[in-house]
Amino acid sequence: MVDAFGREITYLRISVTDRCNYRCRYCMEEGGVVPYTHADILSFEEIAEIAESAAALGIRKIRLTGGEPLVRRGVVDLCKMLRSIPDLSELTMTTNGSLLAPLAKPLREAGVDRLNISLDTLDPEKFHSMTRGGSLSDVLNGLDAAEAAGFLGTKLNVVLIGGFNDEEIPTFAALTKERVICVRFIELMPIGCAAGWNSKTFLSSEAVKRALPELEFLERDGVSERYRLPGSLGTIGLISPIHAKFCSRCDRIRLTSDGQLKPCLHSAMEYPLRGLHGDALMEALQQAIWAKPKEHHMDTTHSSDTMRRMFEIGG
Ligand code: SAM
Ligand code: SF4
Repeated sequence: MVDAFGREITYLRISVTDRCNYRCRYCMEEGGVVPYTHADILSFEEIAEIAESAAALGIRKIRLTGGEPLVRRGVVDLCKMLRSIPDLSELTMTTNGSLLAPLAKPLREAGVDRLNISLDTLDPEKFHSMTRGGSLSDVLNGLDAAEAAGFLGTKLNVVLIGGFNDEEIPTFAALTKERVICVRFIELMPIGCAAGWNSKTFLSSEAVKRALPELEFLERDGVSERYRLPGSLGTIGLISPIHAKFCSRCDRIRLTSDGQLKPCLHSAMEYPLRGLHGDALMEALQQAIWAKPKEHHMDTTHSSDTMRRMFEIGG
């Protein structure tokens, strides 16, 4: 379906839980938050029903996210349910990778096509500090397990944080020399915990170009620009929501784990879908897509307009 600004909406991101086993400093408060109760969150059947209606309206790609999607019990079964939806061309997942090692093969067998793994530093101590307790080796084991399970085109999502990982840009980029992965540098957005952060922590993706002057431009790929280090097997992506706003190319809508359809990550606008079925569900989805705002209003001085935190939406 096309929205009011002529954008074709083909991509649905589903947050399957607001819970997470990490507490990344830019995403979640230290003490965690009061999570939704089991009754608050959509059942697998409810998620599948919404996904089927969305597919009937032209959604072709679904990404599962969270919170941390792998902490939701039975998530592999949900993947199987979603993969059986006719017309869906891709089912993907964004995960912190910490619980991936034993689940990579079952996820692949359930029909998950690709994985994005979030990893902001390759230094074990900095990783432990940023995630408030996480172990880098768990994530690296998850990445290896994904490769062994046959996942192709895995993306490593690195949020650029000034004074934290800017020095590591070349080290991350070097991972692409021997591995067929895409390392994607993403600008930190002023949302949730990060909204009040010092402006020096918000690094433009231009910092990556300055650190890697040898980058060769390949193509624009949806909301990212893809590059390659000469002679490398993998690629490097730049996602610049602030420095090079891509709202005019946005093709996505988002479903929160408590059943709200968000036409835009950074808008407070939400459409409750819980309890809707058949034509009523289709109409609500159509209304939400049509109402998708033209663009976000974030910049280095203005935070996101959404009332939710990133772990409630899924990124
Ligand atoms: N727990 C999973 C993970 O970390 O991959 C999925 C949910 S997490 C909210 C999705 C993505 O959002 C992660 O890559 C995370 O780094 C990113 N993220 C969270 N807060 C962000 C922010 N303020 N700016 C940019 N990216 C952010
Ligand atoms: Fe959890 Fe992902 Fe947020 Fe980190 S970024 S706290 S892993 S939801």
